[in-house]
Amino acid sequence: MRLRRIWVEEAALPYETTRRVLARLPGVPVDVIPHREVLRPRGGLAADWPRQAKETLLLAVQRGPFWRPCPGTPEYICCGYQVLQVGLNCPFDCRYCILQGYLNLPALTVFVNLEDCLRELEEQLASGGVWRLGTGEFGDSLALEELTGLHARLIPLFARQAAAVLEIKSKGRALDPLLPLGPTPRVIFAWSLNPPEVIRELEPKTASLGARLQAAARAAAAGFRLAFHFDPLIWFPGWEAAYRETVDRLARAVPASAAVWISLGALRFPPPLRRQILRRFPASRFAAEEMILAPDGKLRYFHTRRVEMYGRLREWLEAAFPAATLYLCMESPRVWRQVFGVAPDSRGLARRLNAAALGQPPAVTTPASDCRPS
Ligand code: SF4
Repeated sequence: MRLRRIWVEEAALPYETTRRVLARLPGVPVDVIPHREVLRPRGGLAADWPRQAKETLLLAVQRGPFWRPCPGTPEYICCGYQVLQVGLNCPFDCRYCILQGYLNLPALTVFVNLEDCLRELEEQLASGGVWRLGTGEFGDSLALEELTGLHARLIPLFARQAAAVLEIKSKGRALDPLLPLGPTPRVIFAWSLNPPEVIRELEPKTASLGARLQAAARAAAAGFRLAFHFDPLIWFPGWEAAYRETVDRLARAVPASAAVWISLGALRFPPPLRRQILRRFPASRFAAEEMILAPDGKLRYFHTRRVEMYGRLREWLEAAFPAATLYLCMESPRVWRQVFGVAPDSRGLARRLNAAALGQPPAVTTPASDCRPS
């Protein structure tokens, strides 16, 4: 990661995380600003702001809640995941990253009031319920760990919980300082996976497939449970052989019993993001593919293509990881039925994944009432 500048909100100065991050970045110019809103450019962001944002760090105070429900849409089946918003943006530069159309500040933001985050978590978790939370929705969980030490504080907190699981999701490999903090069944290390040719072309600055699989194997050897996300699945000529080989490499790299859940999600994004991607990367063939406007307002592959890709991945993954819970991320009941024969409702899917998170047998938690018949 090459940082050219650090902005620090005045309110962020007293926090331990601010001191820790600045101590680890000697020589990078630091400017103190009254509030992050001063960074918001008048008249909108410049076209190349995502590039600038990867080189500028903002240390800020999270004034809203850290804990938020993962945004779902009524038309699609949602798994009830919860998001810990510990930062915004990440130093990797995936061509398809949905944050390019979502963020409104040209910076990589770290929220430094970790003590407030821990307090909020303790309070909410004490009120009961079964929860799956993740730190990898608004950025990459591990990409800034060396700077922030965030997960080194979160893992012990989750290790004490009876019914909450933290998913640490990454395209990176820097997890070694976290391994001695476990194992605990309340923390799952997860990797997003794609074939090497997709990683090379569309996921610059991330770890190679081999490095991700090695990191997953190290986490499993340390006793942690694992999850994997084939999301976004990218269609290209030769996709089938490439994804087949990727699943085979995954199966050779980690013990099948370590995988708790595996998700599938085909490429999707809001229409303005397609224009933005093509402006930034004019040679991006993946963004120029023919797609349809789906009921949730996003561009998606035609449903026949999605069903074909999911069906093949399902076949290979169920053979290699028979005990893992396989699910589709934000897909329609129609596609679920064509891939799995049944479509759970959102509550049913959440129950199934909660059971997997807590290590309960699926038979207890997948009553027929969870499923809409095909
Ligand atoms: S790792 Fe995730 S958050 Fe980071 S650029 Fe890639 S898609 Fe975006």
